[in-house]
Amino acid sequence: MHMKLYGIGASQGIAVGPVKIVRELPPVERESVAEGQIPVQKERVAQAFDRARRELEQLERRIRPELKEMIAAQMMILDDPELAEEIEANLAEGKQAEWAVEDAVRSIAGAIADLEDPYLKERAADVHDLGKRILAALMNRSAPGIHVTEPVILAAKDLTPSDTAGLDPSLVLGFATELGGPTSHSAIMARTIGIPALVGVKDLLSSLRDGDTAAIDAEAGELLVNPAGEVRLSYENKAAERRRMIQEQRKSKDLPAVTADGRRVELAANIGSVKDAAAALEWGAEGVGLFRTEFLYMEKHALPDENEQFRAYEQVVRQLAPRPVIFRTLDIGGDKGLPYLQLPPEENPFLGYRALRFCLDRPELFKTQLRAMLRASTGGKARIMFPMVATVGEWRRAKAYLEEAAAELGFAELPEAGIMIEIPAAAVMARAFADEADFFSIGSNDLIQYTMAADRGNKAVSYLYRHLEPAVLRLIAGVIEAAHEAGKWVGMCGEMAGDPEAIPLLLGLGLDEFSMSAASLPKAREIIRSLSYEECRRLAESALKCRSIEEVRQLYRL
Ligand code: PEP
Ligand code: MG
Repeated sequence: MHMKLYGIGASQGIAVGPVKIVRELPPVERESVAEGQIPVQKERVAQAFDRARRELEQLERRIRPELKEMIAAQMMILDDPELAEEIEANLAEGKQAEWAVEDAVRSIAGAIADLEDPYLKERAADVHDLGKRILAALMNRSAPGIHVTEPVILAAKDLTPSDTAGLDPSLVLGFATELGGPTSHSAIMARTIGIPALVGVKDLLSSLRDGDTAAIDAEAGELLVNPAGEVRLSYENKAAERRRMIQEQRKSKDLPAVTADGRRVELAANIGSVKDAAAALEWGAEGVGLFRTEFLYMEKHALPDENEQFRAYEQVVRQLAPRPVIFRTLDIGGDKGLPYLQLPPEENPFLGYRALRFCLDRPELFKTQLRAMLRASTGGKARIMFPMVATVGEWRRAKAYLEEAAAELGFAELPEAGIMIEIPAAAVMARAFADEADFFSIGSNDLIQYTMAADRGNKAVSYLYRHLEPAVLRLIAGVIEAAHEAGKWVGMCGEMAGDPEAIPLLLGLGLDEFSMSAASLPKAREIIRSLSYEECRRLAESALKCRSIEEVRQLYRL
């Protein structure tokens, strides 16, 4: 019998294949050496530096263009006399090579992280990354980053951006990690390239060995270890069927999202980085309905400065032009931390000091981001929206900062400014907001968790967290109605927008824009094109009268 492990599906799909375990380096042993051994340690360090240099040169040739800057920075650090001197001093104290390198890396990275200049501050991450590479060479381990030459399922404690930097996505069938949530970097990467992924899988690494076969079913949240016979065959068939279906759906990526009876809606993608923009276009996005800018902050060790943000935002706007891009201002807090801000821990972070609440208290940080977005907006069509708005007062303050930032830049015209409706209070007050905002985007992920008082990541209460709950549908209906009364359009950028079961209802309720993970777009397009808007309207009308989710589901069976 095969063993079954459980996790949270972070990117849908099914995959079967050989396991490749991504190992972390073992901890460095703090050993001293006798004086006579010091030259040997020096030689070991020199050789490790040589290997690191060769690896970086090789990586440079095959890496994605946006990561070249990272390689260049690491090359510079490798040649930095300060690093060499610090290691030398540690070696002279009798520290073994690994210890000497680790200490030097820590001290240099620490000093950089304390600097004022945000650009330099961010180099601390590069120092750490390079340190890992040198240590791997010293320990005779394979270089950091994942090396695969045949299709595999990756299993790791966690996957960081630099782990996956040189990775050929076409060779990754799927992955599973012990840590990380559905919004972790790796989960988003999985959704962007459309491979199945499970996160939060307990006992993953102790249950698997390289070369085992794993079958991932992300929807069921399951990973089977060494399935055999019929079970394995059925997974292989399902995986092959899914690949065929995606190929087929991708062929229609340029067809408009229009119902059989002529209601046209917009299909947009959610992205979290510059490189996701290309994937969005590949999957047929008509725009970006949500750019989660916090990932730009989360992959750093210090706040990104205005120019750095501008460069990222501008690239996305230009790539998408003339299609629209909706930038969401920094949405940290809840499950998305920024350790370098050292915010005090909270008892209840999802109800705490997060997103706009935090930004309104930090005008400099907030306006830096707004200026970067405004500057980028001239390269194409950009819109700006604010997350976690609870009151009209908050919205007005946010808008005032946007106006201030525009004035500082001498911009006479503002891009469209909208509100994410993801707090029930905002949904209830939608009519008041609709008079002032240019558009709404419903953040169903949060709206549902706050409406149902059920943590969106907590399995024990997942029976409450469901897209078709009548309470949720009624709130959404009210938001769309309020916006339309004021002549404004409404999108949705939570996962619900890409849920095949929810799409007919959302269409029927009058949603104008559906924004989702890029890989969900083909299916959504197919569904919308197969539906009749008139029938969806009737369905929605009936659903609003339902008293339970069971009654809503029953409507689908009629
Ligand atoms: C949402 O809450 O629906 C949303 C899109 O924002 P996030 O998932 O980033 O909280
Ligand atoms: Mg949200």
